[in-house]
This record gives sequence, structure tokens and C-alpha cells, in this order.
Amino acid sequence: MALIVQKFGGTSVGDVERIRNVARRVKETVDANNQVVVVVSARSGVTNELIARAKALNPHPDEREMDMLLSVGEQETIALTAMALHAMGVPAASRTGAQAGILTDIRHTRARIRSISGGDISAQLNAGKVVILAGFQGSSETGQVTTLGRGGSDLSAIAIAAALKADICQIYTDVDGVYTADPRIVPNARKLKTISYEEMLELASSGSKVMQNRAVEFAQKFGVIFEVRSSFNHNPGTIVKEEAASMEDVVVSGVALDKNQTRIVVSDLPDRPGTAAKLFQSIAKADVSVDMIVQNIGRKGLANMTFTVARDDTFRAEQAVANFFGDGEKGAAHFSADDIAKVSIVGVGMRTHTGVAAKLFESLASAGINIQLISTSEIKISVAIAPDDAEEAVRVIHKAFALED
Ligand code: ASP
Ligand code: MG
Repeated sequence: MALIVQKFGGTSVGDVERIRNVARRVKETVDANNQVVVVVSARSGVTNELIARAKALNPHPDEREMDMLLSVGEQETIALTAMALHAMGVPAASRTGAQAGILTDIRHTRARIRSISGGDISAQLNAGKVVILAGFQGSSETGQVTTLGRGGSDLSAIAIAAALKADICQIYTDVDGVYTADPRIVPNARKLKTISYEEMLELASSGSKVMQNRAVEFAQKFGVIFEVRSSFNHNPGTIVKEEAASMEDVVVSGVALDKNQTRIVVSDLPDRPGTAAKLFQSIAKADVSVDMIVQNIGRKGLANMTFTVARDDTFRAEQAVANFFGDGEKGAAHFSADDIAKVSIVGVGMRTHTGVAAKLFESLASAGINIQLISTSEIKISVAIAPDDAEEAVRVIHKAFALED
């Protein structure tokens, strides 16, 4: 008998019919002689709706009250899922995060898990019941309801799988798994059978968001093997696990696109030691993370600094640059901000293969696509290009590395 954690996201429990579909899926797993812990999100849209209501009443709602409110979405779906299972004759019991002993710190709306006792989950499983756990929520030492940050049900699922030493954790979502590229852009993209935690993290940070990143990091830390698969069909999904030697045979696992980037160019900065430090300190203080950075070679005592930030952070980044100018560092400097797209290739095989960057640049050159910025890590190469070229770039790169089906 295996212990399986099955997590269903918001679209998978989006309405009564879909909740029934989830219950059917769970029943199949139980009938195949498995113990099952189900983790569910709120119905899709519910969390956003609750946030909108809170903000309509108070633009800066108290964070404790916010957690009290947002945890409601998942409590609705655990109860409904239990009822759907009961209607099919499957014994099941719902549990809140607090009842499952998910202890967090007190950072409301973005709490971190400290420990998981599991409450009576093991006892319920041994009594032959399916346990349905509310994702996204926990409780603090003083018994306050906390939530784990947007998309936190993924983390709940991985964490309970680690705590219960489950045999596998299945993340059911509205996509079939992790693909070599977005199938809406590249119709012959291929579903990956397996991928390493690191590749999954790099793909997500490059725009292919299937799961919450903290959940993947947690899985990597505790060695939780998980599978991303669809709740709407029975196709096998993508298994995410520790890197294996054979994974290195594949040079590039996927091409990711992030269209929501802004390029900021700070021109004619005084070219002297400490300028970059001060500029980026000011940006860090504004809680903006910077992605790609390029500084050109100084000329006539002046230098240009170019970097990218997430589009949502543009305003705060601009304010940070203005603050830095206000600190007396300005001289003749000025800055501009434009939309940019970031295209990345990711693969653990890059560690051991050469010529990967050259091939990437050649493929873009042959399509007449201009590269504005480049950044690399051990298993990723990213280029910033004009947004209008982005989808074409993904297609030519996908073809150049022969990633198609
Ligand atoms: N309902 C929460 C959210 O929308 C948690 C989740 O869905 O994972 O962020
Ligand atoms: Mg979700």
C-alpha cells in the first residue's frame, strides 16, 4: 500500500462538477489500494475576489484579518470535496492547516512553515479514511491563522508529503506537465518525462510558471519527488526529482519566455568606484530584485548601466533610481525604461557541453533578431530582446536545439 498526496489547484476544483471529478479521481486511487491525502486550493478566482472585497473596504487591510479572510477559500473546498467523496461511499475527513499541525511563523500573508506534526492525519489514514487538507494555510504558535503566500497550496502539498514520508506527491493542474516550450507558442513542443528540481526552478524564474517556486525549493531540500499532471485527463505528467547523471545527455531541456520584464538604462553615470554599489543598494532598499545587469566600458569618465526588473516593479525601480540621483550621485546621468522580453534556455547538460551559447546566438541571428542583453548561469542562458520578436525567438531556438516531438 502506497501513501499518495494529491494536490488539486483552483481550476481543478473550480465548480461542483469539477469537485465531483476530483472525488472520482481520488476514489480511483483509493480503489487501487492506496492511502490518499488530498490537498486543495480555493476555487479559482475566490482568493482574488476575497482580496478585492477586502480592498474595497480598506485599501490597507490588516494582515491578520487578511489571513482570517483568505483561509476561507480553501475551507470551502475541503468540506465540499469531503462531501463529494461521502456521496461516492468513500470515507473521508477534512482538516484545516491548524488541525494538521502546520506550524508557521507569524508573518501574516507570507508565513513560513516551521514544523508539521500532522495532527491525527496518520490515525485517520490508518482508520481507512481519505484526509482532505486545506492548502495555503497554517497556524502560528499563538494559534493565529496564517497563509503561506499566493500559490501556497503547492507548498502545503509538498510539505505534508515530506512530513508523512509519502511515496509520491502528485500536483494536479490545468496543464499536462512541463513542456520544452509553451505549446501555445510552439505547437510541437514536447512534454518532458522527467526534469531536475534546479531546471524546474530556472524555468519558473524564466516565465514558465507551473508551480509556486517555494514549493519546488522545499521539495529539493527534503527530496520530495513529485509529478505535475493534469486533472482533466489520465496522461502521465512530468516527474520532478534530483538530478541524475543521464539528465546531462540532454543539453537543453526547455525554452522559457518572460514577457513581463522592463529594461532600465541609466546613462552617463560618473565612472568611479562605488557608483554601482550605491545604485543597486538604492534598488535593493526598494525591495526590487534585479535580473540581468550590463555595464558598458566607461568613456570620458562616464558609464552606462543597464538592468532588467519584473514589469510590476518598474515604478518602484524608477523611484529608487530617482532617489539615488537625489543622493548627489547624478552628475549628468539620466535614465529610461522600456518593455523587454526575456528568452531563456535551461538544461543541466550545459554544465558539460560547449557551444550552447554560440548555437543560441546563431539561431537568433539567422532570424534577424537583435540581442540586447545576455546573462548566463551554470544551467541557463538568457537573452533580452524586443517584445515583438519574443514568440518567433522561442520558435527558432526550439527548432535549433531540436526539442520538437
Ligand atoms: N488560494 C491561494 C491562491 O490563490 C493558494 C493557492 O491557490 O495555491 O493564491
Ligand atoms: Mg494555485
